Formats: sequence, structure tokens, C-alpha cells
Amino acid sequence: MEYNHVRETDPEVADALVGEVERQRETLAMIASENHVSRAVLEAQGSTLTNKYAEGYPDARYYGGCECADTVEQLAIDRATELWGAEYVNVQPHSGSQANMGVYLAALDPGDKILSLDLTHGGHLSHGHPKNFAGQVYEVEQYEVDSETGYIDYEALAAHATEFEPDMIVSGYSAYPRQVEWERIQEIATSVDAYHLADIAHITGLVAAGEHPSPVGVADFVTGSTHKTIRAGRGGIIMSTEEHADAIDSAIIPGMQGGPLMHNIAGKAVGFKEALQPEFEEYAAQVVANASALGERLAEHGLSLVSGGTDTHLVLVDLRDSHPDTTGKKVEGALEDVGIVLNANTVPGETRSPFVASGIRAGTPALTTRGFDTTAIEQVADCIARVVDSPDDADVKDDVAEDVQALCAEHPLYE
Ligand SMILES: *Cc1c(COP(=O)(O)O)cnc(C)c1O
Repeated sequence: MEYNHVRETDPEVADALVGEVERQRETLAMIASENHVSRAVLEAQGSTLTNKYAEGYPDARYYGGCECADTVEQLAIDRATELWGAEYVNVQPHSGSQANMGVYLAALDPGDKILSLDLTHGGHLSHGHPKNFAGQVYEVEQYEVDSETGYIDYEALAAHATEFEPDMIVSGYSAYPRQVEWERIQEIATSVDAYHLADIAHITGLVAAGEHPSPVGVADFVTGSTHKTIRAGRGGIIMSTEEHADAIDSAIIPGMQGGPLMHNIAGKAVGFKEALQPEFEEYAAQVVANASALGERLAEHGLSLVSGGTDTHLVLVDLRDSHPDTTGKKVEGALEDVGIVLNANTVPGETRSPFVASGIRAGTPALTTRGFDTTAIEQVADCIARVVDSPDDADVKDDVAEDVQALCAEHPLYE
């Protein structure tokens, strides 16, 4: 990956692009929402479809010359339909946040009420944070996880819904290590006559591969991102029933977007095709097995996990018991020094600011793409634990950095 054409025009950007390839090769990407797409997906995203305006939908465009765009978008739709089994799919949202915006616009009126999980408990900005558009346009209240168990408190959610009478309940989370009981949330939504939006941004790939129960056919609307546990490049997707198809189509365009990012939709089509191959099921199963192994090993090192473990692709470590004087931010920085990139994260009942936080979140999707198995993941867990114990010890960090470099070299990327 030399980016020679970029280099001829713009050496500064070329240096940064090459630097990023090297950064990804030489560090362990454990941000739970990140992954490494294939070169096929990269190539599709870098194609001349970036030049093409294709406002509208396949066979119903506002511009001419859309036959190749139509082919690509229809393939993306057909493959998504096969992967998740939805009646209706829209592959045009520019990202997961835009997918959520599209559903709100299709199903709600300004001032309507949304009930969603608190951000510090694992929710997402686009679920109605005061600084997000959804928090400004809709009336939002938030539910929480049980502070003892770390699981969604479904009974409290039911009581909150009865009292608040929301128009929409949002499920699906950014930092929740457990399976979500979609049926249970659907029942609560039905009982108060609210829509249910299941946002599977983090777990699109796990759901496609059957590693997490699917909300498709359960929730009224399902949204996702296409670059987290599914490796189809940056973007979003909306799924629903035919009943809502027209409303969603027109919420996306003309409601909130202009021309679709056709080059990204080509990336989605290629990534979805990859995810339809049998190897993808093995991949998703390994992602989950690796997260379990990571959690168990960290627990053996004395670290506490929110909810006591994981059934998904991520673990959330609560540092308050084992390391009360350190913070998520401090650990994040110390780990970055040794080449392990993850993020500080709030934990249920957080008392620190979200920028400092008392936890760290770590995911296995990207490392699993590089071929890490449970044995290699346990070595990574050992590295993390050593740094958490001694974030200021230069000798320990030098030692761990060497182990990280060895693990990177054993698991090459983009060769
Ligand atoms: C990542 C995420 C999104 C989408 O984020 P984008 O960066 O806009 O793609 C939406 N919802 C949840 C729960 C997420 O974790």
C-alpha cells in the first residue's frame, strides 16, 4: 500500500496514509467498534463510484448514467436481505448515526418521546444525548443497567415506559457485553404502544452469523453500522418491514441525505458477500470465543468485569475495585504507549467525568481478523494486566511493548 498517485500530488497526505497502514500493522486494535476490512472492500471504496450522483433508489434515480450504481446498490440490498433476513433494507445511510436519524425521521414527529439507555451505561450519542440532534428535537428520558449485575434492568425499563409513555424505545448499545433480550423489550414497547428501534451497530456481524439473537422480525426497526463486527467499510444500514419502507426511503432522501456514497455502498456489497461465506461464521464464533478468553484471563489477573463476563465481542473492565486510584484515561494512555489501542469507558454508576472514566472497553473483532486465537488473546490479556498494574513503570512498559511487537509480527496485516 504505497499510495503512489497520492504521493505525486500530495506527499503530506501520502505520508499520513502510509503511516496509518503502519500504525495498524504495529499496534493491536482493541477499540470494540473497529475492524480491518479486506483489500477487496478497500478497493471498492476507492473506486470511481465516488464520482457518481445517484440520488434516488435503483431503477428510480434523479440522474442518468446510473446503471452500474444500480447494480451495486441492488447487490448490497440483496446480500443484506440474505444476511439478516429483513423484508426491507436501506443501504444508503452514511453511518450508523445517520441510520438512527433516518428511523427517527420516518417514525417520529418533533417533540415525540424517546426512551433510551443512558450513555454512561452503554448507550450511544445518537440515542438522544442532549448535544445530539435527537436530544434537541425529541423529548428523551433514559433507562439504566442494574448497578449490581450490569445487565439491562428490564423490570425498571417496563416501569419507566409505563410512566413516561414513550413513542419509541431504543435498544442496542455501545458498551454492553451481554446478549440483549429483544423480545422482552418488544413486549414492553408494545404494552405502551411505542415503536421499538433495535440498534445493532456493534453486533451486526454477530447477528448475521447467528452468534447473537436477531432483532430482525422482532423490533419494528433495526439499524446498524457496516464497519464494526461486519467488515463492509464505513457506513450504516436500516432494516424493517415493507410497512415502513416508503417512510424510511423518503426519510433518507430527501429527508436528510442527498447523493448516496456509492463507493461506500460498493464496499458494503463486497463486505456483505464476504460475510455470506461459511468462513464468516467461523470468524464471528472466534470473535466471541476470544472475548470470553480475554475476559476470563483479565479476571484471573484480578480485574473486575462489568456483568461478570461477556457473551459478545467486548469486555468492559471496571477498575474501581482493583485499582481505585487509577483511571480509564490513564490506563488508555499507558496501553497506547505499548501499542495496545483501546478506550477509556464509563462504567455503570460512574462518578468520574466521561473523559477520565473508571473503566476500559476492549473488543476482539479486529484482532480476530488478524488471526488471533484464544491463546494469543490470553497473551494480550497478560500484557494489558501488567500495564494496568504498573502504568508508570518504564521497564514494564518496554517489556510489554516488545511482546506486543512480537504478537503483531506473528499476525501480519495487509501484506
Ligand atoms: C457505533 C454506534 C453507532 C453508529 O455510529 P457511527 O459512527 O455513526 O457509524 C450507533 N449506535 C451504536 C449503539 C453504536 O455503538
